[in-house]
Amino acid sequence: MKKLAINGGTPVRETPIYYGHQFIDQKDIDAVIEVLKSDYLTTGPKITELENQLCRLTEAKYAVAVSNGTAALHLACMAAGIREGDGIITTPITFAASANCALYCGARPVFADIDPETYNISPNSIEEKITEKTKAVIAVDFTGQAVELERIQGICKKHQLLLIEDGAHSLGTIYQGQAVGSIADMTTFSFHPVKTITGGEGGAVMTNDPELYQKLLSFRTHGITRDPELMENQAKEPWYYEQIALGYNYRMTDFQAALILSQLKKLPEFSKRRKEIVQQYNEAFKEIPEIIVQKEIPESDTTRHLYLIQLDLDKLTATRLEIFEALKAENICCNVHYIPVYYFPYYQKLGYHKGLCPNAEKLYEGIITIPLHYGMTDQDVKSVIVGVSKVVQYYKK
Ligand SMILES: *Cc1c(COP(=O)(O)O)cnc(C)c1O
Repeated sequence: MKKLAINGGTPVRETPIYYGHQFIDQKDIDAVIEVLKSDYLTTGPKITELENQLCRLTEAKYAVAVSNGTAALHLACMAAGIREGDGIITTPITFAASANCALYCGARPVFADIDPETYNISPNSIEEKITEKTKAVIAVDFTGQAVELERIQGICKKHQLLLIEDGAHSLGTIYQGQAVGSIADMTTFSFHPVKTITGGEGGAVMTNDPELYQKLLSFRTHGITRDPELMENQAKEPWYYEQIALGYNYRMTDFQAALILSQLKKLPEFSKRRKEIVQQYNEAFKEIPEIIVQKEIPESDTTRHLYLIQLDLDKLTATRLEIFEALKAENICCNVHYIPVYYFPYYQKLGYHKGLCPNAEKLYEGIITIPLHYGMTDQDVKSVIVGVSKVVQYYKK
């Protein structure tokens, strides 16, 4: 057996590889510079162009580009009319923003448990958590795989709930032949650097509903309007505008939009490569009984954002932390997605307790996110497989 790097052996690779990384080329750089030399740095033509392209890609009717994915979720909740006293149902296996957006509106996030195989929110658990206070479901396409949209839409329709899809991971994913972004009442995207395409920061909300669209536009920029049709008073002076609601400044800059537009052109390539890497991982880890991989549902043609291995800890002599550290010593820099949201002290103080979602908690104990990004070479992929196999082999019972 090969000596582990953590015990003084030679690492499987010489340089560290990270779980995620952006891919920026000269075309991206040129696109940003072009905007910097133009007249509009914000609220300019690149924003409209980006919104049009996002509509083309997803076949949604409307897109609203915003400053980041968290702002997108906040605006979606505001447009949905989420207020004090309301309940929204979401998953604990997500980034905190998916639940925080409810708190921003004075509503209470209610955590439904996950499906132990797909790791996505369980439709049965959603149904169990619905009360008369529930107003919306925020379903997260965890790792990029679409949630069971058909069933969740059915539940939402039956109980008159709005469905907000947090698609921060799932840009490029197709569900039953339809792109994520055009299916739920609203879908949010993020363009943070670890996501499939990036603008540094950035986000968007997609919808097919003209009323929701108008609200999103208004809340994006302070609730201010220049549209005479929407004003309460008649505009007598040319400079006149009105604030008719309380909104925020959640605008995106034109140079971010230009970067995202340039990255969007590479999405098919990004998507293809991510799928190839996922397939190579799946095939390699199938042979390792100590590793469980995420179940893929046939309805989702997934552009994967994250690749998780779930350790079957009963078959191993090491803890997740020891394996994580051993991988790091091999120069494979992993992460863990996610700590259940309600574990955080802020949520504990709001009265959430451990034990709320047993499947989510069990999953959290054994997961490690391994590197997956477009820039990985075949050699990189191979080194991750060799490294994971080496460490797991060493610690197997
Ligand atoms: C990244 C992410 C967000 C937030 O996006 P930002 O652009 O970082 O604000 C929301 N939800 C999920 C699931 C995410 O991964």
